[in-house]
Amino acid sequence: MDADETAWEQRSVVRVVPPVQPRKLAKVPFVELADGRLQGVVSSGSDIERVYVSSITAGTHDLSCSTNNNRPCGALHGYACKHLRLLADEAVLQYGLDRVARYLRVEVPEGGHLMSALNGSPQRTPAAVVFSRFLRHLAYLEVPDSVEPLAELHWFPAMGEVR
Ligand SMILES: [Zn+2]
Repeated sequence: MDADETAWEQRSVVRVVPPVQPRKLAKVPFVELADGRLQGVVSSGSDIERVYVSSITAGTHDLSCSTNNNRPCGALHGYACKHLRLLADEAVLQYGLDRVARYLRVEVPEGGHLMSALNGSPQRTPAAVVFSRFLRHLAYLEVPDSVEPLAELHWFPAMGEVR
């Protein structure tokens, strides 16, 4: 790690890192490797007003998924729900498989899939911490000249009221 990167890592603001590959921002508006977890915010497939806060803990690989109102995800039973799968996929696009696997401390076989290499069990993690990081991330996010991306993310104002 060079000196520049060290200074950059030490800054307390939420960083906006250009993804390794293009990401589906409308589906997974927020993903980060922080607090010893891969964590992020995943849009509900069926309800535009709802988002899920999903996380995978490094080392233990505990899985957590709940709504931003801290209600448990109904689809997380012993194996990862689709929100966690989407989060993992987007993390790989954002950071690259090697970096995500290293952070979570998991061995992914050559050509293997991140989620199939994890064998953690569901464990409740409070959504509020991750969700407030997401709101801070939005505050720092620089919106490009075009207003197009905002149209896809029109549930953001409603989310602000949750605080
Ligand atoms: Zn879920």
